[in-house]
Amino acid sequence: MNESKNTGNAKRVARLKKILVITLVFLLIFPNITCIFMLVKQSSLEKQINYLAGEIADLKLSGDMKMGRLSDDGRLKSADALLRISLEDESVPGSAVADAGLGDNTSYAEENPLLSDEVVWTFSADGDSTGAAHKVYLTFDDGPSAYTDDILDILDKYGVKATFFVVGKDSESDIELYKRIVNEGHTLGMHSYSHVYSKIYQSEDSFTEDLDNITTLLTDATGETPLFYRFPGGSSNSVSKLDMHRFINILNDRGITYFDWNVSSGDASGELLSAYSILINSTRGIESRDVSVVLMHDSLDKPTTVEALPDIIEKILSIEGTEILPITSETEPVRHVE
Ligand SMILES: [Zn+2]
Repeated sequence: MNESKNTGNAKRVARLKKILVITLVFLLIFPNITCIFMLVKQSSLEKQINYLAGEIADLKLSGDMKMGRLSDDGRLKSADALLRISLEDESVPGSAVADAGLGDNTSYAEENPLLSDEVVWTFSADGDSTGAAHKVYLTFDDGPSAYTDDILDILDKYGVKATFFVVGKDSESDIELYKRIVNEGHTLGMHSYSHVYSKIYQSEDSFTEDLDNITTLLTDATGETPLFYRFPGGSSNSVSKLDMHRFINILNDRGITYFDWNVSSGDASGELLSAYSILINSTRGIESRDVSVVLMHDSLDKPTTVEALPDIIEKILSIEGTEILPITSETEPVRHVE
């Protein structure tokens, strides 16, 4: 009788012990798991906050730019502010008076009605040089794209001619874009047919085949033989395993002139730059150079380049002694590798 009672007690104690141990283990492990979960969650939220803060900063900057306010760091002024200063200085030279019709995406004209009537721009509506001291060549690589029409519209509004180094696309709408570029007085240059570095730079034969393809496509589309080339990655690219002079020789044999750049908008960097950054990059040092060839991209994933373009043009034209021109056979080549 006593024995069975003792056994019953022992069992109960054992069960209690088990429950106690399980409870203790649970109490120890649960907070740790929760803690780890919260840490993971926190880090993901931090990332989201950083991303959103970046977005807000970008929005604020483009807002500031259009309002003509100083940038956050107080160092660099927006195109509007710079233009206003040069107008106050009466230092904007002019050989032609333009209707400073401004892009729909800027509220500049509405905010500055006086400026839009009184601004005297230096530019050459027909793409011929006016002999200005600082020649600026805006170049757009990788098109045609969904933005080509927008870029052409902006250039048209300012009466500015540029250069498009295009790749091979043969849809009807792309053919129309090649034509529009030429018909509106811009320079249509080649940027390879495929834009696949490994294929183009594989051998002289593959380079020649690609060059034939883009030459034929553009000649058939526009009736004009393209005369200018920009190497994908530039003549100084580190992708080609072959000496770039082999490909340069092929271009030379055909009388095709290649151009690199000495100003980069930076829009090819992995992350999407703000329009403000592109404006600053694209106009850097122009007043100190005779010839500036500005690298930009005409590409679906570069919306901020299009957004920045009106401000880029305005800022360049507001610098004393500048003009914006399309590349022609008269243009002094800018090259990384001769
Ligand atoms: Zn490219």
